[in-house]
Amino acid sequence: MSDQQASERLSCADCHQLNCYRRDKRFPDFCLTVTSRGDADIDAEIAKVKTIYTEEGPDRQMALAAAEIEGLYYGKLTRVEEIIAFAKRIGAKKIGIATCIGLIEETRVFSKILAAKGLESYSVICKVGSIDKTEIGVLPEYKVQQGCHESLCNPILQARLLNQAATDLNVIVGLCVGHDSLFIKHSDAPVTTLITKDRVLGHNPAAALYTSGFYYKRLLQEEKE
Ligand code: SF4
Repeated sequence: MSDQQASERLSCADCHQLNCYRRDKRFPDFCLTVTSRGDADIDAEIAKVKTIYTEEGPDRQMALAAAEIEGLYYGKLTRVEEIIAFAKRIGAKKIGIATCIGLIEETRVFSKILAAKGLESYSVICKVGSIDKTEIGVLPEYKVQQGCHESLCNPILQARLLNQAATDLNVIVGLCVGHDSLFIKHSDAPVTTLITKDRVLGHNPAAALYTSGFYYKRLLQEEKE
């Protein structure tokens, strides 16, 4: 592998300068902010996204709202409160909730909080449509509980029903890995996440990273080909 190729494989996780944030250090040679990769021209890319952020429209509105909330409430508001502040800043009135069946209680509480803060909510559960998993070709042995109707998670229908409900902002509450990806792909309204599901770590997936040096050493064990 040439030095150029080796350098092009480096990315932000390999950087210990993080100079892009406050420009009080230096940009490493492979820096994605100052070094173009392949045919791409990083300066042109930066100019292009600056145009998107400065032209009136939903992207600019969301970018300004997100930056203002970060600045105003840094380390002060919970995620629940930040979502409400963001919704209000982008003028969202109707909040869609794409919820996991296992977190329906949390969704009920969140709906009450939204109502208390003057926001309408409309929630769709993951099992909506009640389609048995085998109807789309999932093998019976993959069912969590054998020998009974077991509906598949249905993120595409969740998105379509929230699109029909004309929600202004959709919030993910604990959708499974991959189901969240399908939901985001099919959602018309912008999507943010309140709860990231982790059945083992109490919906705190970061805990596996924090403990990868001891409890979750297995995560860093190299997989044998
Ligand atoms: S953009 Fe550049 S300075 Fe920022 S983290 Fe990535 S490599 Fe480091």
